[in-house]
Amino acid sequence: MIYLDHSATTPLDPEVLDAMLPYLRDNFGNASSVYGLGQAARRAVDQARDEVAAYFGVQAREVVFTSGGTEGDNFAWRGIAVRNADRGRHLITSTVEHDAVLRSAEALETEGFEVTRLPVDRQGMVDPDDLQRALRPDTTLVSIMHANNEIGTIEPIEELVAVTRSHSTAYFHTDAVQSTGKIPTDFNTLGVDLLAMSAHKLHGPKGTGCLLIRSGVRIQPQILGGGHERNRRAGTENVAGIVGLARALAIAHRDFDHNTAHLRRLRDRLISGVLDRIPGSRLTGHPTNRLPHHASFLFDGVEGESLLLQLDMQGVAGSSGSACTSGSVEPSHVILALGYPRERAVGSLRLSVGKENRDDEVETVLANLPGMVARLRAMAPISAA
Ligand SMILES: *Cc1c(COP(=O)(O)O)cnc(C)c1O
Repeated sequence: MIYLDHSATTPLDPEVLDAMLPYLRDNFGNASSVYGLGQAARRAVDQARDEVAAYFGVQAREVVFTSGGTEGDNFAWRGIAVRNADRGRHLITSTVEHDAVLRSAEALETEGFEVTRLPVDRQGMVDPDDLQRALRPDTTLVSIMHANNEIGTIEPIEELVAVTRSHSTAYFHTDAVQSTGKIPTDFNTLGVDLLAMSAHKLHGPKGTGCLLIRSGVRIQPQILGGGHERNRRAGTENVAGIVGLARALAIAHRDFDHNTAHLRRLRDRLISGVLDRIPGSRLTGHPTNRLPHHASFLFDGVEGESLLLQLDMQGVAGSSGSACTSGSVEPSHVILALGYPRERAVGSLRLSVGKENRDDEVETVLANLPGMVARLRAMAPISAA
């Protein structure tokens, strides 16, 4: 199998597994317990928190462990909106966010909040001038993702934060699930107030992540119970998951130069190979300002879903942003937001490489893909009108 879907999830790094195993086997203590076993778990969580904090350049108290990216985005949105409703009920995001953000925004709209969704250009970039025009005295949250999962585009977060700071008191949240480990995500360089990440997108365990919350930010807890995570997120700590998250970040930091050079090389080979060999193909997202592991395309006259099935039969795992619901293909909201018509948007394919991919795997895909596209076009021509 050739796995080219690292933006969906990644294999667990064996070093991460080794770090986690003691906390799944013998050291099963509850970090809130007073006896030795509990205190060993507490020390592991404390140490992991310090490591995560160091990775992002924040204080340990600014790290809140969560169950992953979805919870982090939900927590940021609802937690900020509700807690700051006395200051205003206007929230700003973009049209290309992950569903974890978009569904949170929709839910809040039904509860009397107003949401402005900023458009993006053909390459998926949010324009800081659009943000400036959208900011209002009653805006309490701006939420723009650091890098897009479907098209790889990296958003100009520092500029967007600067615009926000100079025109508003709104908090700034960024979904850094795709960018963490792939490009620099120093919290204070980005300048954001909140940042969500998830371990399983960088060779850590599923169901673990964190939300960074700048000291002093007013946010309402969403998971209620005990006093865990300084009363911000209740629930017995997922000790092994938290240890795995910290180890995954440490490895990403240690191997950053080597891995990103490798990813970039594979990605660029994929992009140039596809565009050179397949007529009627184009790159989606930004040509240069994109994640180092991310290649995404549109193919004229082909449904991405059909292409995925063909690839799967050859043992290749990729993704198309479109969802097959009740027999008809629903194009991705991200590709539509770039301005492509529906009949072209359904032809999307995402190939995202990982550190364990090899050159020959990319060559195999490049050797097979042109034939697959040609066959699909011949079998079921859809008009590229
Ligand atoms: C995967 C992903 C999420 C969701 O993270 P989970 O940990 O899977 O819940 C959120 N945002 C983006 C951009 C993602 O790629």
